[in-house]
Amino acid sequence: MKSSIELVDKMTAYEVCCPEDDKLHEECGVFGVFLSDPQRDAASLTYYGLLSLQHRGQESAGIAAVHEKTIECRKGMGLVGDVFNPDTVAQLKGPAAVGHVRYSTAGGSCVENAQPFVSRFKLGSIAVAHNGTLTNADVVRELLEDAGIGFTSSSDSEVIVNLIAKNYKKGLEKALTDTIKFIKGSYALVVLTDDALVGARDPNGIRPLCLGKLTEGSKSEGTAGWILASESCAIDAVGGEFVRDIEPGEVIIINNEEVLSFSFSEKTRRAVCSFEYVYFARPDSIIDKVDVYGSRIRAGEILGRESAVSADLVIGVPDSGVPAAIGYGRATGTLFGLGIVKSKYVGRTFIAPDQAMREKAVSVKHNVIDREVRGKRVVVIDDSIVRGTTSRRLVSILRNAGAKEVHIRICSPPVRFPCYFGIDTPHRKDLISNGNSVPELCKSLGADSLAFISVEGLLESLDADEEHSYCLGCFTGEYPIPVSGETRGE
Ligand code: SF4
Repeated sequence: MKSSIELVDKMTAYEVCCPEDDKLHEECGVFGVFLSDPQRDAASLTYYGLLSLQHRGQESAGIAAVHEKTIECRKGMGLVGDVFNPDTVAQLKGPAAVGHVRYSTAGGSCVENAQPFVSRFKLGSIAVAHNGTLTNADVVRELLEDAGIGFTSSSDSEVIVNLIAKNYKKGLEKALTDTIKFIKGSYALVVLTDDALVGARDPNGIRPLCLGKLTEGSKSEGTAGWILASESCAIDAVGGEFVRDIEPGEVIIINNEEVLSFSFSEKTRRAVCSFEYVYFARPDSIIDKVDVYGSRIRAGEILGRESAVSADLVIGVPDSGVPAAIGYGRATGTLFGLGIVKSKYVGRTFIAPDQAMREKAVSVKHNVIDREVRGKRVVVIDDSIVRGTTSRRLVSILRNAGAKEVHIRICSPPVRFPCYFGIDTPHRKDLISNGNSVPELCKSLGADSLAFISVEGLLESLDADEEHSYCLGCFTGEYPIPVSGETRGE
């Protein structure tokens, strides 16, 4: 008799979508630790660092640690807690480690593409964890393949590890600068060598990276170790102290003797991803001196100033819509309430990514507290509209719960263009704001009114000035780095 149990290929299963597929997805989170005490192990700190960066990638996780000049790596598909247990973490010995959580954009979702990537060669070994997307990965890959260098994955990040390994005979510093000058696109990198931890950020600083330190006990005892992390919340999570952001175009090398910093690019123009603040980053993080939570509150206040509507209640779509709803309420004098509840435990579900399933997935993820909204004119604040499925479904469930009017306010401008820098955007034709006017969109969503924050309003919420400038590519079609084939308004 045929068994009724069907084994699901985990790798294939992870190629499907989740209830948040109507959101843009961050590609990755990176974390690295270098401890001064050679007897201590860095892997468990890395594990906790990765847990606090889990929101940046849920498809795969990995940690590489160096012990007596040998790098060992464990990685696999799934959440950090799925891939690691106390035994697997304990097997990773050594005082320095790097870790990675991934959501795939470049390269498919399979264990071969999980990071860190490790290369062992005659002169040593390195492990690389990368957040971002290289815009010239195909060209560099071809050049490396022509030089006889083999690849084990389809990920653009493997290009970086192979380039560093190829250049390593010139010494670490030169290998890094030569590699970094060759690659284009967005990258926040943490690199582990036999005796150093390295961090690097692209010349525009599109993806975030910051430095922290471990002091343990009184500060006079000195530094117990250094941390590199995508977001400051990961430094907090391991009891570290935030030191500063890595600057665009900066490389930092941490070893037992020193912390060395140098700039590899004369032409740097800060263009931090504005979507980090709108949606991707955790609200308790501070990125490039801008408080993520505070920026969301300000975005709500500005939305209130730009597009107030007479209403009885303002609610936020959890999580990032909630601080903006607080700000909108403050600015307009509208009562703030919790009308929408998000299930925190849905995670990534194995469902087919067709439109019908996406529509269903929203009600799995969000539910309405009908007692709160019944008979009221409700303003709903969300961070963004991508395909429109979430907003349409939310309007429908709010009306079914008895809301008298539903007004949508969005704290990012309309997403009309793809991202080429490490964020998974649907095809242009699936971006509902591409080709639809705001009134058309409002009608399609079934809302009583719809308004987006202006580009100027978003910049104001981020305290933009000469020093703090941002990438707005997916809103305006103007990118900080030339993107081949991209024509504004195409
Ligand atoms: S295009 Fe959009 S999502 Fe991509 S880096 Fe720029 S602001 Fe961020």
